[in-house]
Amino acid sequence: MQRILDPGQIEAFAQRDLQRLRLPDRARVFSTRAARLRQQSEAGAIGHAIGEYLKLMAHLADAQQIALTNLESALPDAEQIAHARTFHMPPVSVVGWRRKEQWLRSLDLICESVAAVPDLPQQASAVCDLLRNLESDQLEAQADSLLAAQTSAVDAASAPFIMAALQVYWVSLASRLSLDAIQELDVPGVCPTCGTLPVASVVRADSRSQGLRYLHCALCATEWHMVRVKCSHCQTTQGISYQSIENGPRGIRAECCDTCHTYRKILYQEEDSAVEPVADDLASLALDLLLSDAGYHRASSNPLLWNPS
Ligand SMILES: [Zn+2]
Ligand SMILES: [Zn+2]
Repeated sequence: MQRILDPGQIEAFAQRDLQRLRLPDRARVFSTRAARLRQQSEAGAIGHAIGEYLKLMAHLADAQQIALTNLESALPDAEQIAHARTFHMPPVSVVGWRRKEQWLRSLDLICESVAAVPDLPQQASAVCDLLRNLESDQLEAQADSLLAAQTSAVDAASAPFIMAALQVYWVSLASRLSLDAIQELDVPGVCPTCGTLPVASVVRADSRSQGLRYLHCALCATEWHMVRVKCSHCQTTQGISYQSIENGPRGIRAECCDTCHTYRKILYQEEDSAVEPVADDLASLALDLLLSDAGYHRASSNPLLWNPS
């Protein structure tokens, strides 16, 4: 009997030397996101709640870039990396790695930068004040809840700010790790650097990764390869379909799975060179509404939008 390969398997065979991992570029990871958020906020959404929210998140991403420039974080040593390898764990796992209190300094810097933005909405400056006056153990407890996705224990207005500081801390680690320290995990749907779920996936168009699909970590911005036409939640290659908004933005679709009934958005750099996973996922809430009406659930949330439930 002839064995028929699905498109994902054909791609895997064809790309034996593919770039498996793309680590974040600490010089521009958040400034690129800020620019995209600003562009999206101006693309016809001004005056609407989402446009204003994207603008606020653009300020937040600018503040993240400043905080990252000011952060030097201690990396895992050879023994810790060997330990992670032995137990098939990510080297700076959100559960196994003890985060240093440097992240609190990043949070303070982020709040200071955002609070200094002219004409900041009153609610946002109140959040900055609140966070700068909380005790560190209260902030650590909120961070623990956020990283464990315990929605009920988190203040929805503060959550994006706390998550922003945690992103700065983990991006700082990911951007300095050597590729050898990061191994392929038994669970392909989580980030091999920190163990967090991806926010979206992106088909890259640069010469090293032309046409390859990567999942983008919601926390540390590591991107790891996964073949196309495959559910990033349950790993099936059957019953995958793609949905988009009619006459909507180019370069974004939802990859939907009829096995687990979830979806994640997939971005195509070839169609829009400026796509950025966190920003584009946040700016395409209309697609979420469409998918929700069709009976699909988000496979994971956006780190900058916290829905208490
Ligand atoms: Zn990660
Ligand atoms: Zn699935």
